[in-house]
Amino acid sequence: MDKLFQLEKINKKWVRDCKCRLRDTATQAVIGSGSPDAKILFIGEAPGKKEDEQGIPFIGAAGKFLDELLTSIKLQRENIYITNIVKYRPPKNRDPSPEEIASCREWLIDEIHMINPKIIVTLGRHAMGHFLPDAKISETHGKLFQKNIDGVGVKKILPLYHPAAALYNGALRATLKEDFKKIPQILKNIKE
Ligand code: URA
Repeated sequence: MDKLFQLEKINKKWVRDCKCRLRDTATQAVIGSGSPDAKILFIGEAPGKKEDEQGIPFIGAAGKFLDELLTSIKLQRENIYITNIVKYRPPKNRDPSPEEIASCREWLIDEIHMINPKIIVTLGRHAMGHFLPDAKISETHGKLFQKNIDGVGVKKILPLYHPAAALYNGALRATLKEDFKKIPQILKNIKE
């Protein structure tokens, strides 16, 4: 069975079985997208309005900025895989609750396990907090961590600011652009 087929199977299973209560208010599940062979797995927080309508992650304003950042390091969506810690849009884009995050956790673990990326890039403090609960994004952004993830094993994690937070904040925008530039070198170091 190839990786794409297996990933589709996982997503189908979780679309059917996920118990997250956000299902009641969301239009549909927003499943991850990109290459199942990706070396980099980006993990955001939760789908927004556009993503909820179309069922595709990061297609709104934050997603456009993310595309710009990817292009700046010569990457495209087809080269990476992108998903969210929570697969359903929280009403009015509120923060997902710990229970909602916990309900979608096994789905995320299955995705990480299947893709087996070289680096996990978390976008924003919620995605970071899922893996590095005591970290502060103002101190940890752009630094590489190593973490044993239950059900997956040891993974390298690079926390970055969320593109939505950086959209209208010039200083964060510049920081995020600088942090992004570290990704190719990190990948290169991992290969060597
Ligand atoms: N913000 C996220 O964290 N995820 C999306 O899919 C869209 C916006």
